Amino acid sequence: NVQLAQRVKALTPSTTLAITAKAKEMKAQGIDVIGLGAGEPDFNTPDHIIEAAYESLKKGQTKYTPSGGLPELKDAIIGKFEKDQGISYKRSEIIVTTGAKHALYTLFQVILDEGDEVIIPTPYWVSYPEQVKLADGTPVYIEGKEENNFKITPEQLHAAITPKTKAVIINSPSNPTGMLYSKEELEALGEVALKHNIWIISDEIYEKLIYGTNKHVSIAELSPALKEQTIIINGVSKSHSMTGWRIGYAAGNEQVIKAMTDLASHSTSNPTAVSQYGSIAAYEGTQEPVEEMRKAFEERLNIVHSKLNEIPGVSCLKPQGAFYLFPNVKEAALLTGFNDVDGFVKALLEEAKVAVIPGSGFGAPDNIRLSYATSLELLEAAVARIADFVNSHA
Ligand code: PLP
Repeated sequence: NVQLAQRVKALTPSTTLAITAKAKEMKAQGIDVIGLGAGEPDFNTPDHIIEAAYESLKKGQTKYTPSGGLPELKDAIIGKFEKDQGISYKRSEIIVTTGAKHALYTLFQVILDEGDEVIIPTPYWVSYPEQVKLADGTPVYIEGKEENNFKITPEQLHAAITPKTKAVIINSPSNPTGMLYSKEELEALGEVALKHNIWIISDEIYEKLIYGTNKHVSIAELSPALKEQTIIINGVSKSHSMTGWRIGYAAGNEQVIKAMTDLASHSTSNPTAVSQYGSIAAYEGTQEPVEEMRKAFEERLNIVHSKLNEIPGVSCLKPQGAFYLFPNVKEAALLTGFNDVDGFVKALLEEAKVAVIPGSGFGAPDNIRLSYATSLELLEAAVARIADFVNSHA
């Protein structure tokens, strides 16, 4: 019996991965399961990015890079911020990391001491609380209510702040809800954060996946004061379909970025060189593939969203971004004989052969998360299976 450290004993394994593993196991047994658990685009990385990465390898750019990332990539990221957000950063205010996930991990490590609180709106991305705990911090949850499109209000934020609060996380558009904060909402939240002098951690990883007439706004672009108080987290994983390349970044306060870079120098050394060269092409080359992927997601969303709402006991707000639907299925669970949604999800997988993620893992136990990062054909089949399941058990 191995004695492991306290810090890992407290870790909650990812619910997303648990369901995905179960679905894979069923598939391996020859069972026809449709998986809607995926958190990654189903497209290959655009060709010009692959070419650029290949060229860099052939040129011998296969060595260690600076810990905080290649200066050329930092410049490409700076260019992206100028173009998209109209804000300028210096190289010393940017760190390139091994995926956005590790940017967040490193950030919590350098800003939190034991007992420091980080405000996490629910429903939340599963890694936030675990990463805060790994940095000896304490997650403090505030409920983004479904009637408020799963978003928090300035009053809620104000009420949750204590002398121990170090930061609040804003993830817009959100995983798992797909909801987007408007400029006015961000201004109001920003005012509270500024007044109490807490960091705003703005996770903008789904920035490029926005639908309808909606527009992505970064809280950092709203005023110089907010820019100073905000650490932006972003990366190429979702925008350029580069999840496996593992390139993300953080932008913000120079001292925080320096501390993160020092920590990286003793942990990862640097993000993978070839992936950094590919990412330069991602930002400096054509953005057409990004828009094509966005359009494909939007088409799927529009079709699947209305079909989902036709299922008895299912009600689904219309997401504004990302590639997830987050329907409330409490009624459908009750109709089919389950007291909780976790049981309903298990039956969906075992009987209807559709893998979805229970909302309990995101702090929203009445909901489920469906990813539409899969073909329209499979999506339509999956929703039909869910409808059949509910209709035949109701
Ligand atoms: N933030 C959110 C909200 C995410 O959903 C994800 C990936 O699922 C990440 C960050 C991490 O992305 P990356 O693949 O760049 O580590």
